[in-house]
Amino acid sequence: MVIDLERCTGCQACVVACKQENNIPFSTPEEAAYGREIAWLRVLAVTERDYPRVKSRYLPVLCQQCDAPPCINVCPTGATYRNPEGLVGQIYPRCIGCRYCANACPYQIKAFNWYNWSRFRWPAELRQSLNPDVSLRPMGVIEKCTFCHHRLQKAREQARAEGREVRGEGEYVPACVQSCPAGALFFGDLDDPETTVHQLAESSRAFRLLEELGTEPKVIYLEEGEWYAAT
Ligand code: SF4
Repeated sequence: MVIDLERCTGCQACVVACKQENNIPFSTPEEAAYGREIAWLRVLAVTERDYPRVKSRYLPVLCQQCDAPPCINVCPTGATYRNPEGLVGQIYPRCIGCRYCANACPYQIKAFNWYNWSRFRWPAELRQSLNPDVSLRPMGVIEKCTFCHHRLQKAREQARAEGREVRGEGEYVPACVQSCPAGALFFGDLDDPETTVHQLAESSRAFRLLEELGTEPKVIYLEEGEWYAAT
């Protein structure tokens, strides 16, 4: 994934789309006050300079799908793993909720599920909008962004039914990418030189979050100038 920070307006459409797509519960103010809200994608805001020259910048942060993910090394049950596509997956029935992985993640983007969000506890007015392709997670497990892996499965099934391969760019994109009105999010195969994401990743504006830690994140950010100097 590539995220162009110069295009992001901080509108949070990606956050809402992620919650809707992945059956992520909305938190009450009390739950949020305890730090118990669940978000697989957050848009952080940074304000620079004083009035009247105030400038705001926005940083969407989601699982960076690292090639060297620290979360996997500390998981005692193998609940967090790298799948064949190179994505960091989470097997909920294996998770014992120890939260070692959440603490090891330098991006602080793994969420612990404090509540029982079974279908029967979901607000009645929202039950019809639950996505049947995504399971509801049980209380006491860690959950995280999957790059909407269920969408890839659907694209594969569709392609198989039509007797063809999954088409390259565009046939499968995560909900956040699909919903961004500013066109700030790009998705595709970083290893394929023909793709937009590969070409954007070669840009002189490209950088990765906390790449000095050696996590080898697969989310690339684009921004002119010094982001860290500004923060
Ligand atoms: S939807 Fe696009 S513009 Fe809006 S906050 Fe997310 S990345 Fe930024």
